[in-house]
Amino acid sequence: MTRRAVFARDDWTCQYCGSRSDLTVDHVIPRSKGGSSEWENIVACCSTCNRRKADRLPHQARMFPRHSPRPPHPSVFIQVACPRIPDSWQAWLPQAA
Ligand SMILES: [Zn+2]
Repeated sequence: MTRRAVFARDDWTCQYCGSRSDLTVDHVIPRSKGGSSEWENIVACCSTCNRRKADRLPHQARMFPRHSPRPPHPSVFIQVACPRIPDSWQAWLPQAA
């Protein structure tokens, strides 16, 4: 898993405030609290929200991701590997989730 793929899945948007700048990744359940590094526990997050949430659980910080994180659609990996998808490929790709 790469940060870029997480950002692409989350549409380059902070999953807490909607900001599109200064993005990093956040463990929804902090690793110090037993959270995993799986897709389901990582969201795109701006550094401001990351600092605000710090090492707390979502209900402690009262910060919940806008979308429940999940493994990304396979096309995310194609977008990450190839930012501009040739038009001729479109017919072969499933519709974006
Ligand atoms: Zn934010």
